[in-house]
Amino acid sequence: MGVVKKRDSCLSIRPKLIVWDFDLTVLSIHSWAAGIRQKDVADRTLYDDVADLAFFRHFVQRALEQGFAVAIASFGQYEVIQAYMDRIVGRGVFNRENIATPSKFGSKDGRALRGGKVPMLKSLACKMLRASPQELSLRKSDIIFFDDSWDNVCGAIENGFIHSVLVDCRGFCEQLWNEVKCPLGMDNFCDASKLDDSLA
Ligand SMILES: [Mg+2]
Repeated sequence: MGVVKKRDSCLSIRPKLIVWDFDLTVLSIHSWAAGIRQKDVADRTLYDDVADLAFFRHFVQRALEQGFAVAIASFGQYEVIQAYMDRIVGRGVFNRENIATPSKFGSKDGRALRGGKVPMLKSLACKMLRASPQELSLRKSDIIFFDDSWDNVCGAIENGFIHSVLVDCRGFCEQLWNEVKCPLGMDNFCDASKLDDSLA
């Protein structure tokens, strides 16, 4: 069960940015550890590689319809993530603006960043929510963050991103979402009965 910090009641302020880690969160595999290259992605079977392909597509579509921003925060390789996301949800939804990787932060993709995912969350939040660093301090609860790393999730929570969710071995899937949506104040957000698998 993934929620590290639960709230007793639904939130009065709805989150405005949803951020996923990539490997072992959006994906059920670790693309970096598996050595998957950008050119390999076209030949990958998405149903095998993505934790819950139909649900993720539906979820992102629903988020965009609701005016939420979406983003990826990963220590992996940008080009690989971009290639996957273009296949998963179609081109144009994810780009260099909302895929944060170490190469955007003065490091090399594939390396962990000092500060874990916190610098990425801060940067994404300011950019995607058009918030100044001062405003961000008041808006960290507007960000939902999913990651399979305990260290990353704890680091985020300790830095005020209280709606950070630890993803277990299932990855980001409908079942996990149903377990965490109410504590996140998002119980009416995503109607799974309207799953759209048209991009499969
Ligand atoms: Mg991961």
